[in-house]
Amino acid sequence: MPPTHLWLNGEIVPWPSATIHITDARSLTTVSSVYEGIRGYWNAEQRQLYVVRLPEHMRRFAGSMKVMRMQPAYSPADLVAATVELLRHLDLHEDTYIRPVATFLPRDDSWSGPDPTHLEIQIATASRPSSLGQERKLNVGISSWRRIEDNSMPPRVKANANYLSSRLVSAQAALDGYDGAIILNSDGSVAEGPWACVFAARDGRLITPSVTSNILESITRQTVIQVAREVLGVEVQERAVDRTELYLADELFFCGTGQELQPIVSVDRYTVGDGDVGPLTARLRGLYRDIVHGREPRYEEWLTPVY
Ligand code: PMP
Repeated sequence: MPPTHLWLNGEIVPWPSATIHITDARSLTTVSSVYEGIRGYWNAEQRQLYVVRLPEHMRRFAGSMKVMRMQPAYSPADLVAATVELLRHLDLHEDTYIRPVATFLPRDDSWSGPDPTHLEIQIATASRPSSLGQERKLNVGISSWRRIEDNSMPPRVKANANYLSSRLVSAQAALDGYDGAIILNSDGSVAEGPWACVFAARDGRLITPSVTSNILESITRQTVIQVAREVLGVEVQERAVDRTELYLADELFFCGTGQELQPIVSVDRYTVGDGDVGPLTARLRGLYRDIVHGREPRYEEWLTPVY
């Protein structure tokens, strides 16, 4: 069942009324949308819905729109307020995924260049239970697809069109019998997964590709780096990562809003560490779970309580 309402261009409207005409579908199915993926976690004891790093997501959304030369009528603060208003209106009491999307509306001659202000901005929600309570262990492969690049399709911009690459990578990984994949850049260095950033632990240190490695500037990645340093006192290196460093890692995991924190136990059938969830991954996952559920006062400024 879809939610009863969504936010569209400044108003909360009934879900069924948010339709487009078939001739407008071009803007949705081609190249002109950017979006965000945000999570809200329901804390049953506190009867509170916490949205994780909402202002940061809306700032990244604004950045994606800027690079696309969109001129939205709403500031990141307006979109934060709109999200909270929508969630309150829906009176949600469950783990929720929140998806803002900005789309150019077509002009008669949309191929000659879009009108920067002729935009549709929507915020829609969907029920999406957390996987943080489950024990999933991923066997992944290095994809034969290469990562998209900053000078052609910037991964830093969260554009829907970028996810053609993710789709190709994920479909191939599934056909090859893997649970997921890690994508390399054209120079052979590690970029990220199709839907998440990647971390390796080696000799008690964490290593992750830098933000100039053709990755999305992931908010969860930033969260993990800060928590690892501040709470666990673990050194984190943001740098170019080689493929064989993944094979030799003691621990590996994906992180992202949707994927949360997922342990990887093999890469290209090389067992990572002892083939089980490593201690650093387990601690970070536990901390992340506490933080997003509002059980870690030190990081409560990362949460927007809805009620
Ligand atoms: N990389 C890619 C390609 C992604 O799609 C995502 C999910 N948004 C991430 C990384 C993780 O980003 P974030 O932590 O901001 O959700």
